[in-house]
Amino acid sequence: MKAGVDFDLCSHIKSINNKIMEKPKILIVDDRPENLLALELLFEEIPCEIFRALSGNEALTQVAGNDFAMVLLDVQMPDMDGFETAELMRGNKKTSHVPIIFVTALSKEQRHVFQGYKSGAVDYLFKPVEPEVLLGKVSVFLELYRHRRGLEAAQEELLRQKKILEEVSIKDDLTGLYNRRHLNTVLRQEFERSKRYGTDLSCLLLDLDHFKKVNDTYGHGFGDTVLREFAHRLTNSIRSSDFAFRFGGEEFLLLLPQTDIAGAKQTGENIRLCLAAENIEDINHSAAVTVSVGVCSYRQQHPESQDDLIALADKALYAAKMNGRNQVAIG
Ligand code: GH3
Ligand code: MG
Ligand code: MG
Repeated sequence: MKAGVDFDLCSHIKSINNKIMEKPKILIVDDRPENLLALELLFEEIPCEIFRALSGNEALTQVAGNDFAMVLLDVQMPDMDGFETAELMRGNKKTSHVPIIFVTALSKEQRHVFQGYKSGAVDYLFKPVEPEVLLGKVSVFLELYRHRRGLEAAQEELLRQKKILEEVSIKDDLTGLYNRRHLNTVLRQEFERSKRYGTDLSCLLLDLDHFKKVNDTYGHGFGDTVLREFAHRLTNSIRSSDFAFRFGGEEFLLLLPQTDIAGAKQTGENIRLCLAAENIEDINHSAAVTVSVGVCSYRQQHPESQDDLIALADKALYAAKMNGRNQVAIG
């Protein structure tokens, strides 16, 4: 299991690196193919992937489907000009952050420059474009883009780690079932729900019979195998809306929301039979293991507190042990 996690982590780090190392994409927009070609030639020295669009509409379609590091946008185009295209890009949440450099043959008059900034330009270049000026500006934006991608990847990784930590903090290492700390949280919620809405809540306490003998006879390692296999059979015997916890060493607890005492007893019986039906084995050992189960339910016994619910299940479990083990008793 551990090896699986390590492998998973490696491939995840690889995919993050790939994301950061991916060649940045740049969209160049001009209604004249010869202008596009000239711009494309200027980009030959920069490691990037160039996309072309011959109109504002085509540019909008491309930005919606790609993550561009920047867009070089011609101002004078038929149908939709560069300013209008930029405004529509800014109006869309998915594309509003993409830097735009207007490339234009329009006069350098201030009003044109201002109109460009109003529609969201981050820079402005005049035809004929000076290669050094263009490449200088593009390099700065590419650097910013790389930083942004790096930050996004780091944030993604942090969120992933947080999720793993949250998961680990509520699970038992050996069996993968929920741990006792999580029981407190779930029991509080479910008990309150039953109290408020009058719905039933059943509790089963399960304790492996003579487990000490299993350890003494076959060793602690095989004892662990038995605990894991029992947890596996337990999980397969309950509904997805039920909760299974490792309560202590060889004790387990089930919470079955909206399940009455008859349903809970049946579940206990199913688990008992499932364990008794087949020996637990590894390559060196084979052991017949049984379990005793104590069952109680909210609507049957009306416990006053969540601790009382567990105490009732414990009392029933004690009775099951006293009566000869390998059986289900109701509190
Ligand atoms: P009973 O039928 O009355 O329940 O008898 P028992 O032997 O199952 O009960 P007892 O409480 O005497 O022994 C429980 C044993 O479970 C003792 C302890 O060493 C063992 N145990 C507790 N946690 C673990 C674990 O994580 N792994 C293994 N292998 N054994 C464990
Ligand atoms: Mg015990
Ligand atoms: Mg026991």
